[in-house]
Amino acid sequence: MTASAHRAARLMLAAAIAVGLAASAAHGQAGRETTPGPWGGTLEVSPASPPRTGPARPPRGREAPGARPTAAAPRSPAGAQAAPTLATVLAAEVSGDDRRTRLAFDVAAPVAIEARSLADPSRVIVDLPEVEFRLPTGTGQSAGGLISRYRFGLIEAGRSRIVLDTMGTVRIVRAEVVGPLSTGRFRLEIDLAPATAADVAAWQLAEAAARSVAAEPVPATPAMGIPQGRAGRRPVVVVDAGHGGIDPGAEGAAAIEKHIVLDVARHVERVLSATRRYEVVMTRTTDVFVSLDERLRISQAHHADLFLSLHADSLPSKELARSVRGATVYTLAEQASDDLARRMAEKENAVDLLAGLPLTGSGDDQVRAILIDLLRRESATYSQDFRRHLLAELRPRIAVAREPARSGPFKVLRQAGSPAVLIELGYMSNADDERLMATSAWQGKVAQAIAAAVDAHFHTRTAGKR
Ligand SMILES: [Zn+2]
Repeated sequence: MTASAHRAARLMLAAAIAVGLAASAAHGQAGRETTPGPWGGTLEVSPASPPRTGPARPPRGREAPGARPTAAAPRSPAGAQAAPTLATVLAAEVSGDDRRTRLAFDVAAPVAIEARSLADPSRVIVDLPEVEFRLPTGTGQSAGGLISRYRFGLIEAGRSRIVLDTMGTVRIVRAEVVGPLSTGRFRLEIDLAPATAADVAAWQLAEAAARSVAAEPVPATPAMGIPQGRAGRRPVVVVDAGHGGIDPGAEGAAAIEKHIVLDVARHVERVLSATRRYEVVMTRTTDVFVSLDERLRISQAHHADLFLSLHADSLPSKELARSVRGATVYTLAEQASDDLARRMAEKENAVDLLAGLPLTGSGDDQVRAILIDLLRRESATYSQDFRRHLLAELRPRIAVAREPARSGPFKVLRQAGSPAVLIELGYMSNADDERLMATSAWQGKVAQAIAAAVDAHFHTRTAGKR
């Protein structure tokens, strides 16, 4: 390894540790160990991570089109701050053209960043410690030069992310935090250029190396202290608010799916918990990104008896948007029931990719899928039973779509043993739906309908077992 590559690797490690330390300083432990979920290792296996086998790997592969970390840590005495306040991102600007594009953010304080370029789809991921994005609504929806659009938000507790959709694969020429400027602010700058064929080849090499590292056994996620047996305990209902953090979901004229579904989830949690008949588990309670795999893991760890995924649909066609409205309840089917269901499933399954996660799916998954399939058959009957009750309860309360019972290959419904439905509460693209869905009164009505359906469903389920 060349001296400069070695230095780059060390810097990278320093940047990763700096991020981890901020979260775990209170525990006095190494950052990685306190990072929850399958996320802990993700940063480490990026094409830009330091190679484990050292000299065998050509250093070229690490450098282009990968990352240049910048460890611009605050220069305060070590351990002086107790609860660090979040750095604020105050402005964003895109400049340049399709040969060289710069995306710059004004940041109130220095932050450590890590950037990497990905292909298929082409995008750039910038990871940083949790920051507060104080940017105007609509920021990033269109950009310029090599960047078609960008998103930003919380990717998990303590970590924020910026995802740039790019025109073709790009090379990161520079990713740095500079400052302080005369304004007292710092500037996060990312310079991009189109990737050359050599860049892409080097990138593929690094990717392959990263994959072999990723294939090493990962310690199993410990169960969360929930008793294994189902007998004699209250049914567990998992309420899954879709999207969150960096993934906004569908965007209406004023409202955003991720906020509406979290509000509804909170109503449902309140109503169901008040009955004292169910143990309610939320997959998220804040505006944070949760991967589809993590949602499934939470459901499995809690031995869910029913999984309810909440969403709010949107149609791209202006014509249809005016006339199509109302709730739809989806169940799992590998073959979509119709074209709309297929497109909905594709859209909902793509959220991990949009948030910058690598595509998953190994041989291991396939074996698991076969085992799960056996369990699913029983669940499928229960899922349909729940939907029947739910539609009966929704109809007198809110608008229901013309064909409200559909099915499709939704990843989040691939549960290992729990009946599951995905509820599209209404259409963000329809003005009436959007206005109503944002009101607490409407959300309360939906929660009442869901709770009544849960009651009816478990009543028949337990009666059937006698
Ligand atoms: Zn959704």
